[in-house]
Amino acid sequence: MNIEKSRRAFAEASKIMPGGVNSPVRAFKNVGGDPLFIKKGKGQYITDIDDNTYIDYVMSWGPLILGHADDHVIHALQTAAERGTSYGAPTELETQLAELVQKIVPSMEMMRMVSSGTEATMSAIRLARGFTHRDKIVKFIGNYHGHSDSLLVDAGSGMATFGINTSPGVPAEFAYDTYTVPYNDVAAISELFANHGDEIACIIVEPVAGNMGVIPGTLEFLKTLRQLTTDNGALLIFDEVMSGFRAGYHGVQGLTGITPDLTTLGKVIGGGLPVGSFGGRQDIMEQITPSGRIYHAGTLSGNPLAMTAGITTIDQLDPEQYVAMDRKVTRLVDGIKAMADKHHVPVTVHHVGTMWSYFFNAGPVNNFADVQQSDVAFFAKFYWQLLAQGIYTAPSQYETNFLSTKHTDYDIDRTIAGFDAAFDATLAED
Ligand SMILES: *Cc1c(COP(=O)(O)O)cnc(C)c1O
Repeated sequence: MNIEKSRRAFAEASKIMPGGVNSPVRAFKNVGGDPLFIKKGKGQYITDIDDNTYIDYVMSWGPLILGHADDHVIHALQTAAERGTSYGAPTELETQLAELVQKIVPSMEMMRMVSSGTEATMSAIRLARGFTHRDKIVKFIGNYHGHSDSLLVDAGSGMATFGINTSPGVPAEFAYDTYTVPYNDVAAISELFANHGDEIACIIVEPVAGNMGVIPGTLEFLKTLRQLTTDNGALLIFDEVMSGFRAGYHGVQGLTGITPDLTTLGKVIGGGLPVGSFGGRQDIMEQITPSGRIYHAGTLSGNPLAMTAGITTIDQLDPEQYVAMDRKVTRLVDGIKAMADKHHVPVTVHHVGTMWSYFFNAGPVNNFADVQQSDVAFFAKFYWQLLAQGIYTAPSQYETNFLSTKHTDYDIDRTIAGFDAAFDATLAED
């Protein structure tokens, strides 16, 4: 595999951007070696600047549920761009996207559009604090909710990849106001509420965790969160920035029937452009400026290009596609498990809807401590063998892989065969 141009591009980028990247996991540190620089993508494929083409399961870390450069999305964007890229005034597109989202995620009685998942969760937390007049929040170890101060404690994704508990620069008071509890631990969260229930503004949770690999929240766990928050006057926030339009058409709230007070979305709802959203109960959302006093704003919030990509993406989705994608992902992870078994490599595979991951770990994997038992050294070596087979997956044991509507059964077969070959090659190295 020739990646000379990527190597040179990374060296150049590293002179002007810290670590050579604009978001840490992109730097491939968890798997060693230099990251691939990408020049184009189409459908399920991406091509790097050395002209290697891969089946892509990163999908821009989730947003591209229709794959790269979907014809309808690109056409709609071209048309929209000719009318101007931003006005800083209301457009009908914002209402259109909000109505589309609300039809599919009905608990979002009202919502606001923002430009990233980080902004969505940060704003939802402020809203929960302002609404309840309480400061404390609860999050789960290994869940990631973007990089705002209150939420950068025991977080997943890049924080997990680089083994950081909290970031320098986050004032101690912020960490002090954030309680962290192990994921899927009903006893621990119940005990916290027994002792501090009347101080807690909200629980924020990834109802299917995706930032420590895929780990589904158990139904018992999620029901407990709903009950504890209701009983104690706290709000329940489902952070579905990743799981929205991914775990299922209606998100995890659709799969479980559990209704949060607030929901945050991002990734898919922007169709590859920068969009996030937070919303929920009308009586809570109306507390936001200018109808209420809790501040939220954004120069590019509801940007017409971003709204257009979101609308055109969601318009093309329907529940049947999720059945088809789920079937393919099931076949894929079953195939991966079979190949690992054939090579006597301990593996645990998880998937929910279009999200999937493989842990080099005999399992069970139900929380962050379990993920940490995975063989990350094997993961790193295996990762490069998988790339050599033309398969581009998330370059960290603590991240999720994604399917798009464009991946075919043939891609799944090729990927399973690629895993087989990559196991062979990795074990031959030892
Ligand atoms: C990606 C993600 C975020 C942050 O979104 P950004 O757009 O990267 O700011 C927040 N929460 C969850 C669950 C995510 O997966």
